[in-house]
Amino acid sequence: MSYSYEAPVSQALFDRASRVTPGGVNSPVRAFQAVGGTPRFMVSGTGPYLTDADGREYVDLVCSWGPMILGHAHPEVVAAVQDAVARGTSFGTPGEGEVALAEEITARVAPVEQVRLVSSGTEATMSAIRLARGYTGRAKVMKFAGCYHGHVDALLAAAGSGLATFALPDTPGVTGAQAGDTIVLPYNDLDAVRAAFAAHPGEIACVITEASPGNMGVVPPGEGFNAGLKEICATGGALYISDEVMTGFRTSKAGWYGVDGVRPDLMTFGKVMGGGFPAAAFGGRADVMAQLAPAGPVYQAGTLSGNPVATAAGLAQLRLLDDAAYARVDAVSAEVRNLVGEALAKEGVAHTVSAASNMFSVFFTDRPVRDYEDARKQEAFRYTAFFHSMLAQGVYLPPSAFESWFVSAAHDARAVERIAAALPAAARAASEATA
Ligand code: PLP
Repeated sequence: MSYSYEAPVSQALFDRASRVTPGGVNSPVRAFQAVGGTPRFMVSGTGPYLTDADGREYVDLVCSWGPMILGHAHPEVVAAVQDAVARGTSFGTPGEGEVALAEEITARVAPVEQVRLVSSGTEATMSAIRLARGYTGRAKVMKFAGCYHGHVDALLAAAGSGLATFALPDTPGVTGAQAGDTIVLPYNDLDAVRAAFAAHPGEIACVITEASPGNMGVVPPGEGFNAGLKEICATGGALYISDEVMTGFRTSKAGWYGVDGVRPDLMTFGKVMGGGFPAAAFGGRADVMAQLAPAGPVYQAGTLSGNPVATAAGLAQLRLLDDAAYARVDAVSAEVRNLVGEALAKEGVAHTVSAASNMFSVFFTDRPVRDYEDARKQEAFRYTAFFHSMLAQGVYLPPSAFESWFVSAAHDARAVERIAAALPAAARAASEATA
């Protein structure tokens, strides 16, 4: 498709970046390959807005893929960071900030009796899986197609057909041995889970699932799915790991656990808890966490784990996230969802606005979406047209039809009005799009 607007400075930066960085980016989705066009190089963010290198302002509906739940450059988070940074950026020793952040997490999320801080969501899920294997003495890991848990070798595995299929590596560089202990099943299918447990008695260390998936678009767990997983794990001697890297401290004060109340054995966190800095965590049952070095034999470590600047940012953000902040995020989310739904309906575009608390995405299909197969059947080409129309009108959406949209407490009436004003033309573009 052709794009009716230009971003010459971003394009020049992208050309420069492409000479020194594979694909011009440091994380693939940023390259706009799913939607085409020039990735926008951002230079600043304030509240709900981002400004790119060409000087254009956008209402941000990505929020750094989740972390910026208070908006960009929140003054109190910035002040906490400035205060921390002035006292030194890394000590390689314990510090009070990490204790305070761990206390904040354990106070909010009851199943987390002990927590270990790391630097990325990938590190959190990788370490949680190692711990589950160490604790149970078992090798196999079960995951669901369409759930993303970071770029952990064992979790980059595609679903084969049929039940309890041993996964094939999803990317070169992951060996058959690394993926061979991974079982990939369709999401929202407890019968498949039961069948896999029956096929591998005493072999499954853990089931890892996104607490409510946002990485195939937003596909919430069906009624009783997480509770069923928990029960099957308990009966089968496996640990139930709830990946709350995306939902944690976003979908409620206690993340998705605060929504469905199903108590995992281990949980993983990232994004919101780092306040825009690299901080993440895994935690859960004290008897399981006690297996972690130096308390126990399962090794895990990190030079920058519990970094004082990152923990200051995360703590400041979490302390600002009170009931009123969540009420605001929920309200904005509902408003934007309604506006999008109305605009698409008006143009007769088949769509489903799928929400899990304040996370949501739009599928360009009117058939129900319960798993990755369903999600992939949408008319993603309509999203491309919709995305570019919104971008041209100053609204920054995820550059892929298979991602969650994120709002913040800083999205005020003016930001929502700008979204509303852009939607009719974008809905028309979606309706006129051809594959
Ligand atoms: N788990 C989930 C559910 C995620 O959404 C992500 C990232 O988007 C990760 C893990 C990996 O986190 P990170 O990108 O910080 O490594």
